[in-house]
Amino acid sequence: MAELITVLGASGSIGVSTLDVIARHPERYQVFALTGNSRVDVLAEQSQRHRPRYVVTGSRQAAAALEPRVPAGCRVLWGEEALAEVAAHADVDTVMAAIVGAAGLLPTLAAARAGKKVLLANKESLVMAGDLFMAAMREGGGALLPIDSEHNAIFQCLPTGYRDAADAGVSHILLSASGGPFRTRPLDSFDSVTPDQACAHPNWAMGRKISVDSATMMNKGLELIEACWLFGVEPDRVQVVIHPQSVVHSLVAYVDGSVLAQLGNPDMRTPIAHALAWPERIASGVAPLDLMAVARLDFEAPDPQRFPCLALAADAVRSGGDYPAALNAANEVAVAAFLDHRLSFTAIAKVVEAVLNDWSASEPCSIAAVQHADRTARQLAQTYSEAMAL
Ligand code: NAD
Ligand code: MG
Repeated sequence: MAELITVLGASGSIGVSTLDVIARHPERYQVFALTGNSRVDVLAEQSQRHRPRYVVTGSRQAAAALEPRVPAGCRVLWGEEALAEVAAHADVDTVMAAIVGAAGLLPTLAAARAGKKVLLANKESLVMAGDLFMAAMREGGGALLPIDSEHNAIFQCLPTGYRDAADAGVSHILLSASGGPFRTRPLDSFDSVTPDQACAHPNWAMGRKISVDSATMMNKGLELIEACWLFGVEPDRVQVVIHPQSVVHSLVAYVDGSVLAQLGNPDMRTPIAHALAWPERIASGVAPLDLMAVARLDFEAPDPQRFPCLALAADAVRSGGDYPAALNAANEVAVAAFLDHRLSFTAIAKVVEAVLNDWSASEPCSIAAVQHADRTARQLAQTYSEAMAL
């Protein structure tokens, strides 16, 4: 019988790539539910092609607009509760968690608790609630497969069945970063960076929020926190290395001096296909890697002055408690303000830093406490964004 899959965030960049891989293997995978916030045209087309049992939208209005455009037998629902329902439904085997930002936390957690195989693209849920999320995965008993290309690479370079990286003889992890579109841009021109320039990533086509995060390198900061939770390592054992070609997706260094890497073209369908079929392998549609065409692989250390968000994230994870949740919330608010032309590019890091400086941390022992920290940090970040507005 085909594996039944819910794709959370189907209308986004990862969602579209996921459906592309699924469509290549109709005998293996069938779509149970698709979700998307507001892109009714995309959801209508996807529902016609993949014939899911449910489509979930973000609002009543979007659901009403979609209703007449889905095939017979497909139900249209809307809102947060419906997202959690299609993530945890008894018939579902696998959930692709590809909603962007904090909005992904509750449905991803619902899938974890229900023991689903969770394909995790929504790194923000691990950053916000790493401890609680990993506990929910353990209690649910499902498998957790990383979709982020770097973490998927690390997963592939670790021995199967490891408990945590230290037990597997790992000395440290090398987390690849492309350096984004501004790796060599003159620093004194950063204030005039526009949203479109920040979203023009040299190697990856992604949603706008993660594209801005890549330009500030906050994305790598969030990924550092994600790696600590996924692989049970201390932040000091994760080294960020800039590799502009985005071919070596990350590396694992062992105590005997061996360093294992995973390579491939920068196309998210590779980690998606890996996670879908794990521990088997299936075709993804990605072109084979031509090393002669790539010709060279470069590596360099990140410049802390150019990318202050990296240190902010490293400090947040070292400080622990709800610092990472505050970091994530402040970053989401600042990035949204930047994309909306209300904040300069360089002010993103300043807003996050100001929120973290004000933060009095506590240990979030429930999801309600995480959500409280998220709300509080958002309010603070809003105030700082207005004070620093263009
Ligand atoms: P995107 O903006 O292209 O898509 C986001 C999806 O989330 C859309 O389907 C959108 O409708 C949905 N969504 C947004 N807000 C929502 C809300 N409030 N409620 C319900 N649904 C909502 O983003 P993306 O690039 O596909 O990224 C998705 C996730 O995957 C992010 O967490 C990102 O960090 C991670 N990720 C993406 C890539 C990539 O290559 N795009 C790589 C690694 C990790
Ligand atoms: Mg990544």
